[in-house]
Amino acid sequence: MKVTTSPKLPNYINGEWRASDAAEFLQVHNPATAEVLAETPLSPKGEVDQAVQAASAAFPDWRRTPATDRVQYLFKLKNLLEQHFEELARTITLECGKTLAESRGEIRRAIENVETAGGAPILLQGDFSEDIASGIDEILIRQPLGVCAAICPFNFPGMIPFWFMPYALAAGNTYLVKPSEKVPLTMRKVFELLHGIGLPKGVVNLVNGAKETVDAILEHPGIRAVSFVGSTSTARYVYAKAASTGKRAQCQGGAKNPIIILPDADLETSTRITADSAFGCAGQRCLAASLIVTVGAARKPFTEAIFQAAAERTVGYGLDEKVQMGPVISVQSKTRIEGLIEKGIREGATPLLDGRQPRIPGFEHGYFVRPTILDNLNPQHEITGTEVFGPVLGLIHVKTMDEAIAFTNSGRYGNMACLFTGSGANARKFRHEAEVGNIGVNVGVAAPMAFFPFSGAKESFFGDLHGQGRHAIEFFTQTKVVVERWPKEWTRKF
Ligand code: NAD
Repeated sequence: MKVTTSPKLPNYINGEWRASDAAEFLQVHNPATAEVLAETPLSPKGEVDQAVQAASAAFPDWRRTPATDRVQYLFKLKNLLEQHFEELARTITLECGKTLAESRGEIRRAIENVETAGGAPILLQGDFSEDIASGIDEILIRQPLGVCAAICPFNFPGMIPFWFMPYALAAGNTYLVKPSEKVPLTMRKVFELLHGIGLPKGVVNLVNGAKETVDAILEHPGIRAVSFVGSTSTARYVYAKAASTGKRAQCQGGAKNPIIILPDADLETSTRITADSAFGCAGQRCLAASLIVTVGAARKPFTEAIFQAAAERTVGYGLDEKVQMGPVISVQSKTRIEGLIEKGIREGATPLLDGRQPRIPGFEHGYFVRPTILDNLNPQHEITGTEVFGPVLGLIHVKTMDEAIAFTNSGRYGNMACLFTGSGANARKFRHEAEVGNIGVNVGVAAPMAFFPFSGAKESFFGDLHGQGRHAIEFFTQTKVVVERWPKEWTRKF
């Protein structure tokens, strides 16, 4: 959408805020009120180039800065993130719509990643073997790549850049972040804090934009590695394009996460946790429960209980502490989600709870969809295999756990699957057989802590090394192996 109103957001390049020369700007909306908060520049290729030049110029000194000194900047950043915690959480809620509690959780995980990256020196440690043959030693060293970039989605504007950036910096790389054009304000605040920690100019850069800016990043010969998080179609595109220009890439895509409920699961716990998983963040989480697979006798009690939990959910403005679910991100998203519900019903699903076109008093212009439950889905329904990315939960009923696992493994995505059970043996079988990257047992959002990789499989992930923890350090470093010959007869006597 073309607009004329302000404030127009700048980029952060070479240690300063620079107005963009973009020909086009996109409106950033508060999804609960439809109020325009700012305008994102669709930064042209030349501005990506300025950022890459600044980051390239900063790289030689930054890589020679000892890792123990580099992480001191992260400790300063952690302190500033803690001091500005509430302000950051409110900004996320304003531009993204999620509840304050959810936004606080997001910033907490961002900080945990900064803390984990603070321990990078031990992860950057090399390896050494003496006398691999007589008088010959081998040394493995880890070195940074150069300029790296993150391309981020709308649903976690405060957390996702932190799956990558702190590790990249700790490992000695210089960096460029491209936030989602829909939610640029949180990274703007983060970069105000980054400005305050005194990093050398050019070490971190922020360039706003959408497809054209992403293409400029992918085509730039000065960028060595790209971390992407977003939908599967874009992940696939970014991965292929990055590879074609010789970049390292890790691309996390979409999801359709099943949760299996066995008859021996605790009803109260499984209902509460799956409702939070399905409807938290208005279902706009790559680890949201989108399908529940009940096994045998779990069907009736669980269906009744999840209906109750969904119907009771308080929907409204995320800044109101009593609210349990906010709006979806945009009017386009609301229309798409409501269209998918319509299609599911037309194809034969039973609408236990239909959340389309809700009336939220005082927020009539907001992009709200209430919790929706579609019962009796089967694999032939389009919605069974399609990522909705909204508060829509599908129910499928099968007779055995083997059928439930077979269904789980039949999908194109592999981001997460969960099992609710009281049986350790069944949990172990599930853990072993489910073909997904993140597994939950009696957990509804299996989001790994910062020191574990954020996994993902099949069409939910393109690449090898994931974000967070040790994987991120490996992604942001290249290894060099040195073989040295020093026969003992060469030892000089002094
Ligand atoms: P998106 O793919 O629309 O956008 C992601 C990024 O790609 C944005 O920065 C956007 O500017 C850019 N982009 C969009 N279209 C592009 C194109 N054609 N060419 C080049 N760049 C393009 O995703 P979104 O709607 O912002 O985020 C929601 C998606 O992200 C969901 O599918 C969700 O499952 C996924 N997601 C995945 C994870 C994970 O860890 N697997 C985490 C969060 C979100």
